[in-house]
Amino acid sequence: MVEILKDLNVAIEEILGCVSGPAEKEELFILDALDRICAEDVTARFSVPPFDTSAMDGFAVASAGFGESAAGKTVLKVIGEAAAGCVNGFKISGGEAVKIMTGAPLPAGADAILVKEAAEEEKEGGSWTVSSREKLKPGLHVRRTGADFAAGDVIVPRGARLNPAALGILASSGYSRVNVFKKRSVAVVSTGDELIDPLDQRVAADGFAPEFGRIMNSNLFLLYGLLNKTGVNCELCGIARDTPEEIAARISEGLSKADIVITTGGASVGSYDFIPDALRLLNFEVGIWKMAIKPGRPFIFAMKKAGNHNKLVFGLPGNPASSLVSFIKLLRPALYKYAGLANPRECVSVMGAISESVKKDPERTTYLRAVISNPAGERGKSPLISVPSRQDSNILTTALAANCLAEIPAGEGRVESGESVWAQII
Ligand code: AMP
Ligand code: MG
Repeated sequence: MVEILKDLNVAIEEILGCVSGPAEKEELFILDALDRICAEDVTARFSVPPFDTSAMDGFAVASAGFGESAAGKTVLKVIGEAAAGCVNGFKISGGEAVKIMTGAPLPAGADAILVKEAAEEEKEGGSWTVSSREKLKPGLHVRRTGADFAAGDVIVPRGARLNPAALGILASSGYSRVNVFKKRSVAVVSTGDELIDPLDQRVAADGFAPEFGRIMNSNLFLLYGLLNKTGVNCELCGIARDTPEEIAARISEGLSKADIVITTGGASVGSYDFIPDALRLLNFEVGIWKMAIKPGRPFIFAMKKAGNHNKLVFGLPGNPASSLVSFIKLLRPALYKYAGLANPRECVSVMGAISESVKKDPERTTYLRAVISNPAGERGKSPLISVPSRQDSNILTTALAANCLAEIPAGEGRVESGESVWAQII
């Protein structure tokens, strides 16, 4: 029987359609709001720049007639000096100039800046004159009032991530506080009889080696990091042993703390893969998906209505690299929407030359943990995508230095070394 694999984009859109954004807001001091998500459109209290200002060090002049004298040279009398922050009452008329610094308000009567480098300055009989052969246009090197934004403009929209620029923009319009979405939580339930909790006291005492057959619950910590970087809190809901009842109990605990629960392990079709059974015990509608991605084929998507919103459970495979790839490719857009980002599918993908020959999977797109860089810092050359050889789904160490997921399209044959492929920056 030919398996029907689920297309990544179709899956992302289906999940996005079931996720609702945040409702609760909080007001923060802007220095505490970095990387948070703006909860309402912020409008400018005033224009920036608030006045016409000089963009250069030089001389504020009236451009009319400048450089059109018989000798092709204009000579002006300097009537004063204007520095940034000064409140000058200068008003220039024909034949006059004001020495001006970047950021100083443009004196009345001036409409252009003669840059310092193009001017000759001379002191004659106690007063300075300035001359130039340049021809000036109105507005040259002048920053107009409102060039960045005008009073009333939406300067930071609802759903925007408050990056460093956003903090600067808010501050430039006089805001010291901003409304952001309250951080939401995602609960993580780890499943597997083999797992040991690294938060176990014996491990905390350090040097504890798991008994034969056991492994550490490393996925939880990977997910903790991924969730926090995505902008949500991670609620730790422990390890469930491989029975539907125990898994259901842990998922219930997770649902009491968050609207989204992520499980790891038990998501495929082995005899001990009980996530779907556990979810049915909790009356969830359960989708058992086989994703057209490698790693990360098994994926469970389960939903239950709770009042006017949905409770969602995402079942990730147990292998750490599968969890990583499924999280980034499939879950992250949904979690961005959950956190309140207006554009939940935002990501950066670039093309580069792959370092190795890689076999394609006939049916699934392969995502390789890789390092994208510019060879020897050279520009104008295609970036290089270095692919470490160990790409099995149980290998996490090759993800340590990885800064991208290189995309190998499904198909026959290979992608040869040096060929261009897409890579998503992670
Ligand atoms: P499963 O999806 O339950 O079949 O697990 C697939 C593989 O991932 C097995 O080798 C598990 O031991 C391993 N695994 C499952 N859960 C975790 C976890 N939380 N941390 C590390 N490895 C895990
Ligand atoms: Mg398992």
